[in-house]
Amino acid sequence: MDLRIGVIGTGAIGQEHIQRLNHKTQGAHVVAISDINKEKATLLAKEIGAKFYETGEALIADPEVDAVVVTSWDPTHEQYVLEAIKHNKYVFCEKPLATDSEGCRRIVDAEVANGKKLVQVGFMRRYDRGYMELKEVIENRQLGEPLLLHCAHRNPTVDKNYETPMAIINTAIHEIDALRWLLQEDYVSVQVILPKQTSYTHEKLHDPQMVILETKSGIHIDLEVFVNCQFGYDIKCVVVCETGEISLEDPSYTRVKAKGKDYTTVSPDWQSRFMDAYDEEFQLWIHSIQADAITGPTAWDGYVASITMVACGVARESGERVAISLDSCPTLYQA
Ligand code: NAP
Repeated sequence: MDLRIGVIGTGAIGQEHIQRLNHKTQGAHVVAISDINKEKATLLAKEIGAKFYETGEALIADPEVDAVVVTSWDPTHEQYVLEAIKHNKYVFCEKPLATDSEGCRRIVDAEVANGKKLVQVGFMRRYDRGYMELKEVIENRQLGEPLLLHCAHRNPTVDKNYETPMAIINTAIHEIDALRWLLQEDYVSVQVILPKQTSYTHEKLHDPQMVILETKSGIHIDLEVFVNCQFGYDIKCVVVCETGEISLEDPSYTRVKAKGKDYTTVSPDWQSRFMDAYDEEFQLWIHSIQADAITGPTAWDGYVASITMVACGVARESGERVAISLDSCPTLYQA
């Protein structure tokens, strides 16, 4: 029988995930939705044949909802994830898991006390084919030990309410998780450099920024976050190893040769760049619930990302290299 999913938060990504669950993936469909915007959500519920709940809590308590997807506003994630754990239900939460590391820790503690992994965090880079291939080469040590990573996260433009801290909290959060997962190593320090700025920014946003992370074994990662680069959505990850180098390619299905030039196009936005990864992320989430064993990014991964982001904020303010220290990882999350 299909898994019956409840979705809390039916804005941009909530609606995309509803489409994905109802039309792209196998083994689940959406039976209930909730959103603070009652008018809009009631209409959507009618359209997709789902029940509408005025509160996320009521949706979670419905015995006909097997698992929950949280795609509401960031500050509400923690309350809904904790509620799902209370009801012993699987819950997929879009990043961030909570708005601060104390909130993430409360979720980890609740899950550990409940004794079962129920939470998956929406770090979809782990499901991108390019990142998966990088991981395989690194894990097998095909090119020897990884030594350095050169990465970039570039958006064509962002709107006026995107401010300096968001470069880490909204944007670099994806690399913070994906690179730790690629290398299977925690970070030990971070430095944030604020270089010469583009004229396409505004006074509340320092753009670009450089984040330098160091891992436990001494691997150094330089990550450029440049969110008004003008030319497209561009994700780079070059892994320099002892005997070779491997890097992500921007997936492209066509190539143009004309007027003396030979070129491919740059992805226009994150949706088109990572569409396949989102589909894979949800298909595997469904399979893991059916198998009663979550395999994706955990609440602990959400907590580690949050601690790292706090250190990035301190490093940006101070201009210094800042140590990143984690509590010891509970056995529930050890491989
Ligand atoms: P959005 O379009 O603003 O959607 C959020 C929705 O949640 C809105 O409909 C909002 O209603 C509703 N909402 C607010 N408070 C609520 C509450 N207490 N209970 C239920 N619903 C509530 O934002 P979005 O772009 O879809 O982003 C949603 C989440 O996904 C964010 O946490 C974001 O960080 C994450 N996200 C992740 C990725 C990724 O790459 N993994 C990409 C995009 C977004 P109102 O509009 O009336 O406030």
